[in-house]
Amino acid sequence: LRKKKVSAEELLQAILKGNKPALSRAITLIESQQQNHAKDVSTLIEGCLPHANKSIRIGITGVPGVGKSTFIEAFGNYLIQQGKKVAVLAVDPTSSISHGSILGDKTRMEELVKQENAFIRPTASGDSLGGVAKKTRESIILCEAAGFDTILIETVGVGQSETVVHSMTDFFLLLKLAGAGDELQGIKRGIMEMADAIIINKADGENERPAKKAKAEFKKALHLYPTRQSEWIPKVKLCSALYNSGIEPIWKMIENYRKITQENDYFYHNRHEQNKFWLLQTINEQLKSNFYNQPTIKTELKKQLQLIEENKTTPFEAATYLLKLAKEL
Ligand code: GDP
Repeated sequence: LRKKKVSAEELLQAILKGNKPALSRAITLIESQQQNHAKDVSTLIEGCLPHANKSIRIGITGVPGVGKSTFIEAFGNYLIQQGKKVAVLAVDPTSSISHGSILGDKTRMEELVKQENAFIRPTASGDSLGGVAKKTRESIILCEAAGFDTILIETVGVGQSETVVHSMTDFFLLLKLAGAGDELQGIKRGIMEMADAIIINKADGENERPAKKAKAEFKKALHLYPTRQSEWIPKVKLCSALYNSGIEPIWKMIENYRKITQENDYFYHNRHEQNKFWLLQTINEQLKSNFYNQPTIKTELKKQLQLIEENKTTPFEAATYLLKLAKEL
């Protein structure tokens, strides 16, 4: 399969049989963003959709150095021992800007990459967070169709990336470290509202005591937020990803979340809401890329930008002109 040219249909059949190289190739196709692949991508997604959905999608966020890779390695290996099939994807808005990603090299997950039942995909790159996010969403569908039942999606808290990952996951984990003082300082309010659980990592050795203190502080802070539609009360847990402790309770918690929210229907409601959001998001992206990719618009946009610099037009006038022009093309 590696070298031979295969059709999208053949690729699809291989994915449905759980073939990892085929899955990899299909994701590469999704990421290529070339117009001449659009039809193949559509064949793949349409073919995979009926086989997707039977999974749990878990978002994982935290600042660089908090231990995301180490946690995913420990958590992923634990899940595989439990008979799960684990796919790891990442949303990294920085990779497109700096060409060096903060999420770094996934080969750091040394044990996990060797597992037959794990699929680890290095970060997609792209020129916009929206673009990267769309590819990740489509990759989730493909992974699920290939039989992966637990999807881990990692992101660094940069820009809007947590919001994006939150909008494609069922459960959202925020990894934190115990600091010296005010644990809540510097934490974006929005993230607290998104987190279904806060995991205080590196709760080992000398760090254990401050970690326990931080746990109490976070618990108190979470109480101040209104009850959620899911009826889930966010939890705070300690963990040492490096020494593999506290991993099982995190999975038990997520299983409990799934049970509660599937019983009260929130789980399915949330996925429908996410699908609606993604419908609108896809239209926005498509409209934008159609607009900016038109050769006439490209040249005219340059001219209008120049006119703005010379104070010969206003932003609104220029926008009206360009949008009208695009409509007539
Ligand atoms: P990431 O940037 O969030 O992916 O963080 P990494 O997983 O690369 O971890 C950053 C550093 O923290 C590495 O040197 C890890 O070995 C270390 N680390 C990760 N988890 C733990 C932990 O639970 N305890 C301790 N003591 N160190 C950890």
